[in-house]
Amino acid sequence: MLLLCLAAAAGCDETPKSDDGDPLGGADGAAPDAAPEADAAPDPDQGAGGMGGAGGMGGAGGMGGAGGMGGAGGMGGMGGAGGQPGPSCGGDAPDARVDQVEVRMETVTIGRDGRSEEQTLELPEDAVSVTMIVLGSEEYLYVVSQFVGPDGRVFTSERPPGVTLTQIDQFITPFPGPFRSPNRSVTAATGVAGYLAPNTPSVELIPGDWTWQLQSMSERGQPGSGEVDVVIEIKRAPAPPLRGSLDLHFHFTGAHGWTAATAAGDADFQAAVGRMCEFYGAIGIGLGAFTYDDVDPEFATVDSIQGANNELHRIYASSRYDTGVSLFFVERIQGPFAGAAIGGIAGGTPGPTLLPETVRSGVVVATELDTDPRAIGHIMAHESGHFLGLFHTREITGHTDPIADTPDNAQDNLMYPTVTQGDAHLTEGQGFVLHRSPAVVTTEVER
Ligand SMILES: [Zn+2]
Repeated sequence: MLLLCLAAAAGCDETPKSDDGDPLGGADGAAPDAAPEADAAPDPDQGAGGMGGAGGMGGAGGMGGAGGMGGAGGMGGMGGAGGQPGPSCGGDAPDARVDQVEVRMETVTIGRDGRSEEQTLELPEDAVSVTMIVLGSEEYLYVVSQFVGPDGRVFTSERPPGVTLTQIDQFITPFPGPFRSPNRSVTAATGVAGYLAPNTPSVELIPGDWTWQLQSMSERGQPGSGEVDVVIEIKRAPAPPLRGSLDLHFHFTGAHGWTAATAAGDADFQAAVGRMCEFYGAIGIGLGAFTYDDVDPEFATVDSIQGANNELHRIYASSRYDTGVSLFFVERIQGPFAGAAIGGIAGGTPGPTLLPETVRSGVVVATELDTDPRAIGHIMAHESGHFLGLFHTREITGHTDPIADTPDNAQDNLMYPTVTQGDAHLTEGQGFVLHRSPAVVTTEVER
């Protein structure tokens, strides 16, 4: 079983050595105080040991004809509801886009108390989501610490109403109030932070003037200060999104024998992508355009994930694409904890969607822990889920995600922190969130 660890939260823990699959088994080893030091933990999903074949799902990922990833199409029927054709897995760009993403840029000053002034954001009638990406210094952690509606409704706050913050909340993040807020906000690493609202169907975005605020902290827990740029992406659509398309940008280090020239025709690679397509297809998201690039083979082993200019930052920063998700295939990711194997790391929850060349612009997938292509496809889907805004269904601390219809402690969910041998899926509530990411191009809205 591949054990993945804290996604959203700052300090990733050591990988439990036991193979019993209980993520809480490693809680003792988790490093709460490491949270602020956790450039280590942009979202390290750590793996312990082999996963065994992820059997059980029929129809593994055949993707159109062999070698056909560049265009051929469609695994029809994947969960397409009501007799509609299933979404494409063929790597085709969507032919119809019905949403638009309005981008605004702000420069915000964070004061010596580690907080910005209150800012205002006017949302239009047709806004279906807001993404904020804070681009700051690699010295500091950042979080959107407040997001409050024109009628006073609290999405996110340092002191969310009705919530008593506990030591366990402090343990998981240096910003416990935002983490426990109705619309969770969390940061996991220095330099870049992301926020998606709504990231649960339980809150409702309305038009009008919203207020928001940033908070910053050094890795040692001191208030951060200075100017940061904030990119605000407002996803607008005439009605709630129903179906969509996600571009994938594949980057190869040579790991698993895959290269830009060979991957499209490689049966293992197709099976991995096909596995990812099963998860996303079932909630109405087809895989859109694919690109293939080689990156420096030096990155095949990511041996530093902490500190300024570490290899993880450099591999992410090599992304050149402003759509979808950039995936980097490596052999292994060497974490800071001895004996810990990391299955994958996402550039954030959410990551800096639509922004290339930042130190968080993608997800890294390790191919060495389990060479079963369906297991690799599971990690691709899981890490991309984080990048698009999904939290683990249950963190190692016992915190569950803010989505009502996800299982609190069952393994049959893509965002459970372990890869299971059996079936797994995304819920409708998780689909709601994914369809709100600006990286998912909406192709059909509810009528
Ligand atoms: Zn994860």
